[in-house]
Amino acid sequence: VAATTDYEAVPGIAPADEQRVGTLVMKFGGTSVGNPDRLQAVARRIVAVKEEGGRVVAVLSAMGDTTDELVELAYRISARPKPRAMDMLISVGERISCALGEMAIEDLGHEAISLTGSQAGIVTDTTHTKAKIVEVRAQRIHEALDEGKIVLVAGFQGVSTGQEITTLGRGGSDTTAVALAAALGAESCQIFTDVEGVYTADPRVVPEALKLPVVTYEEMLEMSASGAKVMALRSVEFARNHGVRLHVRSTFTDSEGTWIQKEDEQLLEKAIISGVTHDTSEAKLTLIGVPDRPGVAARVFRALADAGVNIDMIVQNVSSEGLTDISFTLPKSDLAVAEPILETGCNDVGAAGWSQDSDIAKVSLIGAGMRSHPGVAADMFEALAEAGINIEIISTSSIRISCVVRAADVDRAVQVVHDKFRLFAEERAGA
Ligand code: ADP
Ligand code: ASP
Ligand code: MG
Repeated sequence: VAATTDYEAVPGIAPADEQRVGTLVMKFGGTSVGNPDRLQAVARRIVAVKEEGGRVVAVLSAMGDTTDELVELAYRISARPKPRAMDMLISVGERISCALGEMAIEDLGHEAISLTGSQAGIVTDTTHTKAKIVEVRAQRIHEALDEGKIVLVAGFQGVSTGQEITTLGRGGSDTTAVALAAALGAESCQIFTDVEGVYTADPRVVPEALKLPVVTYEEMLEMSASGAKVMALRSVEFARNHGVRLHVRSTFTDSEGTWIQKEDEQLLEKAIISGVTHDTSEAKLTLIGVPDRPGVAARVFRALADAGVNIDMIVQNVSSEGLTDISFTLPKSDLAVAEPILETGCNDVGAAGWSQDSDIAKVSLIGAGMRSHPGVAADMFEALAEAGINIEIISTSSIRISCVVRAADVDRAVQVVHDKFRLFAEERAGA
């Protein structure tokens, strides 16, 4: 799905020329703070940077699988938890990490202050569970930094313009970190995670995937939008809009990771392919036997949009005898909202019925170079065909080709497509 391109100015964020040299934002993900030992290691890493003279703001995620466990807990209590209560619950994980982080840093002989998203001045809109940051009021952070303290901020959360606690969507600690880096005019935003950087495919699925030294915002946007959860989509949009350079790197080693930044105009050799991504979080809905006349698609998709359902890929078949089928994909988490709308929509437009299929996955090929290289799509389809994998839906953007396949085939699909384009990946990695 294409990332938004509209640039929204966020109050509180300094223009790029007001950069404060020496301010560093470091974000640590769930695995990085997964147990007390790891949290202490994170504290040592933060303190080491501070001792070099830096002004350090660290954004922490919830420990390990805490957020998943809290979500699960909610559904054991209620089938339809209210979004406001959900945010009260799931924002807790990050607060635990920060409080413990403060203790660990104090034990190392440094002053630290842990802040909730609200205390840190992360102001959002009122959309619970997927709120957008609308302003950063960083005064309190500046004061603490001026006093020589290390600032720890609970990621993934904020306070809405209506004074409610909100969360920023899964993976949202990345967004907190980037927003703070922009607001503080930080030199860069370091994202510490459980892999060494951004790879040509999820290294858990393709062990021989290669680490990319540099990825442009545009490529990373497409990768995140099509399932590479190493960076949350919103955070990359934010980084691009505010020119924040990101360094994705391992929490366990000191090695150089992947820089996400503006396209380098000097670079003559552009990589054709930057990577293969996959996404198993979507489902497919099909409207069957739809009368082929103007206004039908408009009616159904308007109703879905009004309910806040995020539609991704859409296909309409060629009609036969005045009837057609329309299939589309959407997040599985939106099914509960979409299904009743489809039921009503079906009656409204005189369709024969609808069906639901959750056993799908999407595999995508991303690369800025495909704009000027014909044949990339054909190569991808061939790779899938040779592996006997059926393509159910295809969609493209100028730098992405996505195919829906059976969920059971997805790992193999990623592997065969990655194999087919491996050469380009090696070129890109300078190997
Ligand atoms: P964190 O908790 O640090 O935020 P995440 O689990 O959100 O970490 O993201 C890191 C994970 O993203 C990796 O463990 C990896 O499995 C997955 N991933 C998916 N695609 C990629 C990719 N192209 N490059 C690197 N990691 C990827
Ligand atoms: N803890 C939140 C999540 O699991 C936010 C994050 O880790 O970025 O989605
Ligand atoms: Mg993450």
